[in-house]
Amino acid sequence: MLIALIGVMATLAGLDEAIRNAGTPVSLMDWTWACTNVATPVFYLYALQGVAARDELERQLAVAAERDPLTRLPNRAGFAAQGLFPLAAHWEAQQPVALAMLDIDRFKQINDGWGHAAGDAVLRGLAQVAGDNMRTTDVFARFGGEEFILLMFNASLDEALALVERLRQVIAEGVPHPGAPERRLTVSAGIASVEGGDLVAIEVAAKAADGALYLAKEAGRDRAVIASRVKI
Ligand code: GH3
Ligand code: MG
Ligand code: MG
Repeated sequence: MLIALIGVMATLAGLDEAIRNAGTPVSLMDWTWACTNVATPVFYLYALQGVAARDELERQLAVAAERDPLTRLPNRAGFAAQGLFPLAAHWEAQQPVALAMLDIDRFKQINDGWGHAAGDAVLRGLAQVAGDNMRTTDVFARFGGEEFILLMFNASLDEALALVERLRQVIAEGVPHPGAPERRLTVSAGIASVEGGDLVAIEVAAKAADGALYLAKEAGRDRAVIASRVKI
């Protein structure tokens, strides 16, 4: 920007000289001098515009790399990026943090029965309904396939269970099932406390929550199960 400003000042100086020379024939040197001074700031402004466009493109790519294109939710990378800083702060402040893994029940039947596009619509619907009913501080992401992960701050295991049960309820009531209006979309969940302030603590809790999710499936689905407290 400073260089462009210097260029503009130089242009004004060149024009000033041209005006003072008015009445006398303008030499080739004067023309060259004036053109160079006009071209220089234009060139620099053009270059700066190119740098700004590239920065914007890089920013958009960075955002896209952390977002699931189907549901517009954060993906795993986005989950870590959004969750780690508040997790560290809550761990430092000794505030409880819980994590839940959620998995749609018998989702394959939806794909098989009504097609992949209907399955995609269910995934998008779940993301929408969950997002609308989430505490703004919590981080909800698509973990992969029909699995989702939720990080809940200032939540004991019992409070996390209440949050997850409410989420399961709004999903069942709010996400249209492609089969029939009266059919409910059920979700199973596993919940674990996060016992640390870093990525390792998240991974350990996710593994524990996944184990509890497996138990929820085994027990008949459409329920949430709390894992035993995880120690690192
Ligand atoms: P369970 O109750 O045990 O969880 O059974 P399930 O049928 O939900 O689980 P399973 O793992 O057997 O099937 C999950 C299916 O999700 C299989 C896969 O094709 C489908 N799937 C994964 N990602 C997508 C997606 O982006 N869109 C659609 N439509 N289907 C997907
Ligand atoms: Mg499933
Ligand atoms: Mg699954």
